[in-house]
Amino acid sequence: MTMIELAGLTTSAVPGFDADSAVSAYLATLDGAARERSDSYFEGGYWLILINAAVGLVVAFILLQSGFARTVRDKAEAWMPWRWLAIPLFVIAWSLATSVLTFPLTLYEGFIREHAYNLSTMTLPAWLGEWAMQLLVSTIMGAVFLTVFYVMIRAAKAAWWLWGAGIAIVFMAFALLIAPVYIEPLFNDYTPMEEGELRDDILAVAHANGIPADDVYVFDVSRQSNRITANVSGLFGTTRIALSDTLVEQADADEVLAVMGHEIGHYVLNHIWEMFIYFGVLLALGLAFADGLFKWANKRFGQRWGVKDIGDIAGLPLLSACLTIFFLVTTPVYNRIVYTNEAEADIFGLNAAREPDGFATVALRLSSYRKISPSGWEEFMFFDHPSGQSRVAMAMDWKAGQLEMGADDQSSDLRIDRAEQISAELEAANSD
Ligand SMILES: [Zn+2]
Repeated sequence: MTMIELAGLTTSAVPGFDADSAVSAYLATLDGAARERSDSYFEGGYWLILINAAVGLVVAFILLQSGFARTVRDKAEAWMPWRWLAIPLFVIAWSLATSVLTFPLTLYEGFIREHAYNLSTMTLPAWLGEWAMQLLVSTIMGAVFLTVFYVMIRAAKAAWWLWGAGIAIVFMAFALLIAPVYIEPLFNDYTPMEEGELRDDILAVAHANGIPADDVYVFDVSRQSNRITANVSGLFGTTRIALSDTLVEQADADEVLAVMGHEIGHYVLNHIWEMFIYFGVLLALGLAFADGLFKWANKRFGQRWGVKDIGDIAGLPLLSACLTIFFLVTTPVYNRIVYTNEAEADIFGLNAAREPDGFATVALRLSSYRKISPSGWEEFMFFDHPSGQSRVAMAMDWKAGQLEMGADDQSSDLRIDRAEQISAELEAANSD
């Protein structure tokens, strides 16, 4: 039975509420220029997937073909007393060279385009500062990770791709564990949410679902953009639920609660652990694919590039190019994995927060940067979160079910006035 049929079925049982018309009524409030503009922003993102991959391949080719990779490897191995110590040195040079060569695209994507769509709140110096900080963090983390990775795959021989995926997952867990303590504070301030009814309600939903949290954090996204967002980050003792200051500022209490119900869902449903497994399998497949492609390319061009085998650090640009191709082709697979968890968290959040209309109106507001009504194939290929339209439909189906069950905390009324207000705010932000 499809969702539409389900909605049709339940509506006949509940006089005064029709899920399909409720969805149409909510979506109809977004009919201005802001919607066209956010559609074009999001659709531009489809091309950026392709462009980023293409630029990544060109950069890898330049680093190999120009002799950069071979020369840096030879110098690093000559300077260092042990061969493995040449790995972090190479990674630093590779990371800097790649970042410089891709800088124009990064600048366009992260600054120029974000400003063109009124999404960024950053000045150019502030943005450059963050770019440099990100480069520093990723270079240090990359040097540590890839040193362990290469030492391991040199020892592992034929099954290197399996070991490589394993070590990547362990490192990802480590990065997640330290992120809330050492990385996130480099970019944003996290402060405990102000005491009050909303915070009490959020903690009540958290406690009711088995989360022993006694704090909810607010972080200053407004420093970078006006997007609303929330997340669960960390691992073991560092896990925390945080919402953006933009969410607190722009959303009503029922909307914030709806979003937090979703985030609590990620936590309770152990999505972080699930992602380790899914991503581990995908990466193992990617590395196995890279194993084949690397050997083929190296046989043809290895002489010129000076790359010996997969364990040779000078082959890093080639390995990264192989993975770029794999992850480009499997983009819809990756999106499906994330999408499934997001849809689960949506349903969990509806059940936990019981705010279907807050969930619907906040989904409308997310259309400031996510296309609200994509076609079926578009949502399948490019969306890693349910679209606004899917979310409003999910919320209204949930509400129809609750009304049919006689839930007395649910009303058949819609918050169309609120939806119209959000639409007007999006239009105003759009015309700045
Ligand atoms: Zn989510």
